[in-house]
Amino acid sequence: MKEGKVRVGIIGGGAAGLFTACQLNRLRGSSDIDITIIEKTSVLGKKLTLTGHGRCNITNRKEPSEFKKGLHEAGNFLYPAIKEFSPDDTVKFFEKDLGLKLKEEDNNRMFPVCDSAVKVRDTLVSYISDNVRIICDSKVLDIAKGEDFEVYTTKGDMHFDVLVLSCGGGSFPETGSTGDSYIFATGLGHTVVPIRAALAPVKVDAKAREFTSALSGVSVNANASLYCSGSRSASSEGDVLFADFGLTGPAIMELSREIPTDIADMNGWIELDFTPFMSDEQIDKEFQKLINEHPDTKVSTLASKFVPSSVSRELTARAKVTDLYAQNFTKQNRKALCKEIKHLELGIDEAPSLERAYVTRGGVVLKEVDRKTMQSKIVPGLYIIGEALDIDGISGGYNLQCCMSEAYVVSRSILG
Ligand SMILES: Cc1cc2nc3c(=O)[nH]c(=O)nc-3n(C[C@H](O)[C@H](O)[C@H](O)COP(=O)(O)OP(=O)(O)OC[C@H]3O[C@@H](n4cnc5c(N)ncnc54)[C@H](O)[C@@H]3O)c2cc1C
Repeated sequence: MKEGKVRVGIIGGGAAGLFTACQLNRLRGSSDIDITIIEKTSVLGKKLTLTGHGRCNITNRKEPSEFKKGLHEAGNFLYPAIKEFSPDDTVKFFEKDLGLKLKEEDNNRMFPVCDSAVKVRDTLVSYISDNVRIICDSKVLDIAKGEDFEVYTTKGDMHFDVLVLSCGGGSFPETGSTGDSYIFATGLGHTVVPIRAALAPVKVDAKAREFTSALSGVSVNANASLYCSGSRSASSEGDVLFADFGLTGPAIMELSREIPTDIADMNGWIELDFTPFMSDEQIDKEFQKLINEHPDTKVSTLASKFVPSSVSRELTARAKVTDLYAQNFTKQNRKALCKEIKHLELGIDEAPSLERAYVTRGGVVLKEVDRKTMQSKIVPGLYIIGEALDIDGISGGYNLQCCMSEAYVVSRSILG
């Protein structure tokens, strides 16, 4: 660390900015640093209070080598940081340093026992409030690098020796994250991978909406595959939730990052397979067995052995077999219904919107950032973290853990 007081500016008081202030505060010892958070909105951590449906899924308690598999292309880049400050370390930090007990739910997801994301945010803020200058309602307008960092804000100009760029991504802009990170990073010489929505609901075309809106609110387990220009480009298995506008639920949200922004120019659709555990042949055989056993039963009733009855009604209607009894169910009818159950095609003519996306895909290119410290390789003294970077994780506490691990390595680097 340089001689004399080091002025650290944290641009953006969201999850990544707050975690950095906390880690600096925790690790500072007798270091002579002066920490300032500059936040555009009137409060810190607005998005944080929405996380985990208001309960805050803080981390995912997996071993780092498993955890990194949830970070798509960025897994290897962030692995050293995740190892250095692991999900276990996050749990210890919340329980020992912040005094906030956590609990584990399915798939290693960690939540506060109090089930309150607001409480998480408030606890983090009170942990730093004595030692960190917090300036809210102050939008950073521009950043220049000369002898130090000159930061132009709506509340005047400020100077810092070290700058942490944590203005978030471009998703859920109502929380303050409107893509400013990318403007500042580009202005400072960085390259930005074009951004798009990830972990987002998906709108389907007008014809497909007739199907999804009839089932609005129904959730079903399925395998969802994305097709672009006729070829399958990605798939995801889990719960699919039907809505008036189209599709959501974990399986769809995971798939959304793969939908190209120019999907409107492609022939694109999502194919749902409601029985991924059975092949086309197996389900056909199963139908034949059911027909023999229950010749006087309606086909829609038989189909509800495989899908919820509301879904069965809609699928049999699409296959035009709703009013048929099993004894009249021909091979051709069977084929038509199996196609709907295993290969339901729902057209997409619009890319998912950043407005409702939980995270942003794209951002500052990772090769321009030192993965051991998150320091820019282009601008010494500049650290880039959180959604500003080209990193997006799957759902389940992965994105907040990334912010936490990054915050730790940044703090360790700043404090030398
Ligand atoms: C509804 C929802 C639920 C989620 N649930 C979870 C979950 O349970 N678990 C999980 O791991 N992840 C979850 N996420 C993702 C997670 O919240 C984000 O990945 C994380 O908040 C990113 O942190 P960040 O600090 O990079 O950005 P943000 O948290 O978006 O913070 C950026 C901050 O910078 C400020 N800012 C922007 N521009 C400027 C400027 N020019 N000047 C000053 N300040 C500025 C913004 O106002 C904002 O406060 C969820 C996201 C959403 C939208």
